[in-house]
Parts: sequence; structure tokens; C-alpha cells
Amino acid sequence: MSAAGAAPGQGTTPRLVLATHNKGKLRELRELLRGQVPGLDVDTQVVDAAAAGAPDVVETGVTFAENSLLKARAVAEATGLVAIADDSGLAVDVMGGAPGIFSARWAGSHGDDIANLRLLLNQLSDVPDAHRGAAFVCAAALAVPAADGDSGHEVVEYGQLEGVLLREPRGDGGFGYDPVLQPAGETRSCAELSADEKNAISHRGKAFRALLPAIVKALQDR
Ligand code: IMP
Repeated sequence: MSAAGAAPGQGTTPRLVLATHNKGKLRELRELLRGQVPGLDVDTQVVDAAAAGAPDVVETGVTFAENSLLKARAVAEATGLVAIADDSGLAVDVMGGAPGIFSARWAGSHGDDIANLRLLLNQLSDVPDAHRGAAFVCAAALAVPAADGDSGHEVVEYGQLEGVLLREPRGDGGFGYDPVLQPAGETRSCAELSADEKNAISHRGKAFRALLPAIVKALQDR
């Protein structure tokens, strides 16, 4: 049964909160969950942090895992609902893994995708093709709040998508650094892939598919 007692799949009461304010991530997470969790209506029972009335979380962690847990935990505590969060970014080989956890604010202001991407391309303008390796990295966290007879728990899983950095952005899909990362074995950038194609190989897809059994179990009794 859901939190408000509606039969799974029948109610409109939120059961799962996606602890993010990033529209690109939200879109991808909803599609990753669609049809994967028995009884969960992704369109009505999965809400984002703002819709659930959860406050913004300051990302004070120094790893993707720490930050994903901070976000999921804060939202689960604020709402009393099962929460999942993603912390992700781009790790560039010749930059020792930067921008990493600073990917969303690389050019200064949080979430300015175009400025971030332009700054990165400028920084790498002298780096030859053979040394332009990079990867998208994702930590996916689940926070299950304490409820009757259950003390609550947390789980983190990881995913990675390796590729090379292009010299100019290509494609209109996706978000963030998608136009400049070409996955290994691909001739297109992530922004030129369809949403399904990206989800099938992405860092986020891999991390959340690994987390799915824990999500299913967490929602089973709530
Ligand atoms: P977070 O909200 O701190 O996890 O920020 C993640 C940032 O990493 C985003 O704002 C993007 O700049 C970048 N990023 C994460 N995942 C992706 C992706 O799938 N495609 C492109 N950029 C991504």
C-alpha cells in the first residue's frame, strides 16, 4: 500500500521523491523508472524536490557519493517519503578528474550549461585528440526514512560513461556537457543520441538500474 493507503498504481499520492531541481536529470530519471517499479505510476506518484516542498540542499560533500546521499537524505527527512538522488558530473582525464563534483558550477554560476561547456572547451583547446578522454560519472543514492517498525536505510550505486571530448558542441538533445562528450564506440555526441539511446549506456542509466532492486524493495511496503 502507498503512504496514503491508495492501492499501488491507482493513487495520486506521491510515493517517491526525486531529489533534484535539474530538469534534464528529472526527465531522464522519470524515463529510467517508467515501468520498472511494480505498482508505481511515474506520472502521478513520482515528484521532484520542489513539488514535494523539500528545501534546496547545499552540496558540501567532496565526492559524488557523499553529495548524492546528502540530497537523498535531506529530502527523505523533509518529506517522510522514499527519496532518490543523483550526483553526477564530467571527469576529464588530463584535468585529473575535474570538473568532477564542480561540473554544474565550473564557470561560476550554478547550472549555466553553456558557460560551463565553453570554459571547458577553451581550457582544453591545446589538448590533442589522443588525450581528450573523459567520462560522465554518477552516484545514485536511495534514502528510506524511518517508518513504523523500520529504522530506515540508505544505498548508493555508481555508473560511468567513457568517451572523448569533442572540440565543438554537437546536437540539441540532453543537457549539460552532452554536446561535447562522444561515447566510446560512437560517432555521435550524447546530445545527438535519442533519450532511450543515452539512457541505455549512460552513467545515470547504469547507476539507477543498479539501484532499482533497492527502490522496488523500499516501495513494496509503503
Ligand atoms: P549536480 O547537480 O551537482 O549533480 O550537477 C551535475 C552537473 O554535471 C550537471 O549540471 C551537468 O553539468 C553535468 N552532468 C551530469 N550528468 C550529465 C549528463 O548526463 N549529461 C551532461 N552533463 C551532465
